[in-house]
Formats: sequence, C-alpha cells, structure tokens
Amino acid sequence: MRYFSTRGTAPVLDFRGATLAGLAADCGLYVPETWPTMSPEAIAELAGLSYAETAIRIMAPFIGDALTEDELRDLCETAYGRFSHAAVTPLVQLDHDQWLLELFHGPTLAFKDVALQLLGLFFERFLTGTDKRLTIIGATSGDTGSAAIDAVAGREGVDIFMLHPVGRVSDVQRRQMTTVLSPNVHNIAIEGDFDTAQALVKTMFATPALADTYALSAVNSINWARLMAQVVYYFYAAVRLGGPARPVAFAVPTGNFGDVFAGYVAARMGLPIARLVVATNVNDILHRALTVGDYSKGTVEQTATPSMDIQVSSNFERLLFDLGGRDGHALAAQMKGFEATGAMRLTNAQSQGAAGLFGSERVDPDDMAMAMRWACENAGQVIDPHTAIGLAAARRQQLAPGIPIVTLATAHPAKFRDAVERATGARPVLPARVGDLFEREERYVTMPATLAAVGDYVAAHAHPSR
Ligand SMILES: *Cc1c(COP(=O)(O)O)cnc(C)c1O
Repeated sequence: MRYFSTRGTAPVLDFRGATLAGLAADCGLYVPETWPTMSPEAIAELAGLSYAETAIRIMAPFIGDALTEDELRDLCETAYGRFSHAAVTPLVQLDHDQWLLELFHGPTLAFKDVALQLLGLFFERFLTGTDKRLTIIGATSGDTGSAAIDAVAGREGVDIFMLHPVGRVSDVQRRQMTTVLSPNVHNIAIEGDFDTAQALVKTMFATPALADTYALSAVNSINWARLMAQVVYYFYAAVRLGGPARPVAFAVPTGNFGDVFAGYVAARMGLPIARLVVATNVNDILHRALTVGDYSKGTVEQTATPSMDIQVSSNFERLLFDLGGRDGHALAAQMKGFEATGAMRLTNAQSQGAAGLFGSERVDPDDMAMAMRWACENAGQVIDPHTAIGLAAARRQQLAPGIPIVTLATAHPAKFRDAVERATGARPVLPARVGDLFEREERYVTMPATLAAVGDYVAAHAHPSR
C-alpha cells in the first residue's frame, strides 16, 4: 500500500515510511492511496475471531509487504496480551439498544492504548537492524501522553518528549506520565493550553535543524498507523451485534477526530454503519462544521473532559481531503487559509459527503452529568465524563427500530474520579495495576511555549539520528 500526503507534495511512502514519519513533510497527513474493501462475506467471517485475529484481517491490506502475516500476528498478540480483559474491547449492554464498547482495558486505562501499544512495537520492529533513531515529539491533552510513554518507555532507539498543558490534565493523567522514569522519557509541562502545545509541536516538525537532525516522529493521532489500529474495534463490535447483516450506529466522544475518522474508514471499507455520531463538549468546532459548514476556532474552554478540549481537530483534514475529491493542492490552499485566519467554510462536496454518514451533537456539562447518572441508575455502570458525552449524544439519536447504537467508552472512570464523584456520588477506585500511582516519584520540567525553550531542551536531551 502506498501513502499520500493530504497536501499533495510530500514524498509518497509505504506503510513503514508513513509510520516512522508521522506528519508529512508538507505538513499534511498521510492517507492510504485507496480504501481496501471487505465483502459482506469477508466481514461475516470475522464472527468468532479473537481480537488479535480480527486485527490481522483488518490491518493486513494497509500494511502490505511491510510485515509478513506471522510478524503482524506476533506484534498483535504482544500488544493485546497486555490488556486486562480477554476480549480486549468488550461490549456492555445498557438497555435494549444502547451499548458501551469498553476501550479502556489497556495499561494506562484509556482507549489510546489500543493503538499505541501496537505503534510502539511497529517502531521497534522497523528500527531494529538499522542505525536510525527516532525522537517522538507529541502534545497531549491527557491520555495520549501516558499511553505513548507506556508504549515506548525503555525501548531501544527511541526518545520521547511529551508536552502537556500545565495544570490542565488530571492528577491521575499527569502521574501516569511523570512517574515513568525511564531515561528515554521526557515530560514537559507547557505554559499554555493544548492547542498552543500542539502548534509548537507542528513548528518543531517544520524546523529542519530539529526535524532532520533528530528524526522527529509523531505519535499523536496524526500518525496513520494509530488510526488503522482503531478501525479494528468498529468491525469487532459490529460483527458481535449482528453485522454486516444489521447496520450498527456509533457515538464517538471526539477531540482530534482520530477515533471517529477510524469509524469513517471502517464504513469506507464496507462495514454497514447506520450513523457515526460526532459527540463534542462545549468546544464544538466539529459540531458547527458538520451542521452548518463553519469550521472556525474559538477559544478553548476547560471542561471535565480535557481530552476533548480542542478547537483544532487535526484529523478532520483527512476527512476533508477524502470528501473533497482527494485534491492535495486544493486542500493545502484550504488549510493554509484556515491557518492564516482561524476559519474556513466546508465546500459543498465536503458538507454533502459528510451528511450521508455523520451526525453530530454538542453536549453541555448538565447533559454530560445526566448521562453519567443514567448509566449508573439504569445499568449499574459507572462511566467517565468523556464516555458520558458520547452516551448523551447516543441517547438523542432517533434510529430505525432495531438499530443498536454503541458508545465508545474511551477512558476508565477512575482516571476522572472527581468528576465522576461530583455527578454520581460514587468515587471509582483505581484498578490494582495502577494502584500505587500516588506513591511514585514524579519527574518533569515546566517551560514557556516557545520554540527557543523547548527546541533547546530537545536538542540537549535527544540523540541525533544517522
Ligand atoms: C483522546 C481522547 C478522546 C478523543 O479522541 P480523538 O481521537 O482525539 O477524537 C476522547 N476521550 C478520551 C478519554 C480520550 O483520551
């Protein structure tokens, strides 16, 4: 499989190249040349397969000859063997039509483990036997950071620098990052919000003295391999609920548009998805884009769902590219306009293309808290605030009778204990595997959001690549 940049001018790469590069050299995002399709028969054959076997069937066409099937099986079994539930991503029924897909049984209790555990192994596999090194730079609003750090801590050939907005991630989230003391792990608290940290990461990638010397790579959901790994659980869940014969709807708590873009890819591959609901908190740029075509950023409001406190959703570019006829030069112009003014209109083709599959909902804090209480009282399920945004959106949908709707449960409730306790009165306990988090030593530095400060720090601590 060949990978093209959404902005049309970066080199065309294979799966290995796209995985190691992360962001494309023209600041675009890599997408596969075509969407592999699966017939209804091939989808039906997934019934009963383990999660790892399902992953192999879904991912093999995207990986092409970068890995043999046995190598891929080996990596999938290692990655998903670290999950604490045998189903990896189990379904839980809330009422007749409402379901949860629990994506938080990985080492750091967030859905990001599903993709990042595998990505860490891809990096190691693709670097072994070369004298190349990789310097991973990322910005996190919480969960990406801990999941990425867990995935690469102590791995040969890789250094990781993770930027988080100071004071804007939960204590559990911060400690899951800052208590990893491996010498290749560097945590940086940035004086600013998530978008500021993310913009700084983009600037570092566009600075050759850093990007080339240290072989910078991304693990934010701009990395294609992550999205690919997330496509798997849409198939896994739908098949268990009667797919492909019965269409299934999904409600996805959304920030960077990565998780929900994976659902779009599943639909393009042939999975019958009745509706893909983009659920946002009050930071609603995606809701406005999908309802009235207005993609314009406001200021980020802090909420109880920090992983969704985002006003620029990187992966939305991939959707606009695909729906806009895959014209890299037109998209580059559209994105340059957005970067200059902070606003853009979707084209008719983009709006109409999205309307066929996507719904969207903006969920305010009251509705979020109500969804948490509803899950508790009606189904005995304690859910985290992000999941509650998705569930509130799911419960607003009017679907044809018999269509199940699956809310992606993106974090374990214990990661957001204060918010859960405020809404439900119940204080979730941390699972045993992270029980001593508050006794561990922390290590991080705090810096202004400038290229000078952070760039110098990276240069002082990273290893040049050959
Ligand atoms: C990252 C994250 C999201 C948002 O996912 P995107 O892929 O960025 O849209 C939602 N919920 C939780 C708990 C997350 O960690």
